[in-house]
Amino acid sequence: MSFRSGRHFLQIPGPTNVPDRILRAIDRPTIDHRGPDFPLLAQRIFPGLQEVFGTSGDVFVFPASGSGGWEAALVNTLSPGDRVLLYENGFFAANWGAVARRLGLDVEVMQGDWRRGVDCPRLESRLAEDGSHQIQAVLAVHNETSSGVSSKIDRVRQALDSAHHPALLMVDAVSSLGSMDYRHDEWAVDVTVSSSQKGLMLPPGLSLNAVSAKALSACKKARLPRSFWDWQEMLQQNRQGYFPYTPSTNLLYGLDEALKMLQEEGLQRVFARHRRLAEAARRAIPGWGLEIFALQADERSDTVTTVLMPSQQGADRLRKIILERFDLSLGTGLGPLKDKVFRIGHLGSFNELMLAGTLCGVEMGLAAAGLPHRTDGVRAALKFLQEDSSAE
Ligand SMILES: *Cc1c(COP(=O)(O)O)cnc(C)c1O
Repeated sequence: MSFRSGRHFLQIPGPTNVPDRILRAIDRPTIDHRGPDFPLLAQRIFPGLQEVFGTSGDVFVFPASGSGGWEAALVNTLSPGDRVLLYENGFFAANWGAVARRLGLDVEVMQGDWRRGVDCPRLESRLAEDGSHQIQAVLAVHNETSSGVSSKIDRVRQALDSAHHPALLMVDAVSSLGSMDYRHDEWAVDVTVSSSQKGLMLPPGLSLNAVSAKALSACKKARLPRSFWDWQEMLQQNRQGYFPYTPSTNLLYGLDEALKMLQEEGLQRVFARHRRLAEAARRAIPGWGLEIFALQADERSDTVTTVLMPSQQGADRLRKIILERFDLSLGTGLGPLKDKVFRIGHLGSFNELMLAGTLCGVEMGLAAAGLPHRTDGVRAALKFLQEDSSAE
């Protein structure tokens, strides 16, 4: 590829842009993870993570991508053949289900509409039918990064409660944590899975599990084989500020800095910034004569917007042109959405001008690709930003 001047725009919905402050924090000598200084780092990281998850319980950090967090959640709480109910409304939900199946769990799929959030009344009636409590866990994705649809986890919790069902509630919050309001304790989630490379603004390589007391006690009885992912061993070591095996020390430096940045801005302001920039991004889509994939206004994600191509094809050609012409990376359509949609990531270390640049890239890309479109997208987004006073 030929020389490219200026800055690359990485506007996929994760990995996200890593701020300079975090890059500098990572760029330090690795220390002895069994030495006397290490617990000082751990002692800062765990409380910071608890705040972001909205929990006073334990949070585990594994050196892995987000998929590792899925596996850790399952192997620590369940036994071979246990039934889990997976609400499938997107690519990541489907993949989590595939992981569960490969681990020997009996996965019952509740097929949802990929353009909608979790159908809580339907979930509740299925749980109410399960009088003998065969279902050991309910799996749901807070923010489906493939479709740009978010689900209301407080309502998912209510569905379990109304059905008086004791199943564990496990939630994937990989592309929402640190960007959208998330309340592990208040929503009584048993395991929340997340990772480093989305709202936490870090490179890929850390996976996270926030766990409830109920999940920890399930861990004592769970019989799925586990070693690397074992929470109990991890907990013992973490209590002393250490890890049972070598952690990603330099990514933990980065995490320490990321948590400081989120604290400096204030989580509520972080969420408001994402909400505002997402709304501006959404205004652009009809301005181009295109369609937002997420059907319901109140289920549209504040971290990613999935855009449906007219006649449902040509998204990959458009993305290729935009990358080659403007050095802007947009997210690809995943699974059955391949080539039908493209995704604009608007999360993490991100501001108004980065959004404006991104939207300009899309608008110029539509023209460069010779696709029929309206040219009101950028204008509509900027108009929203100017008129919305919530940032002042
Ligand atoms: C990014 C992501 C994951 C994790 O994927 P990895 O590639 O393993 O890091 C899981 N779930 C969702 C919703 C995601 O967006």
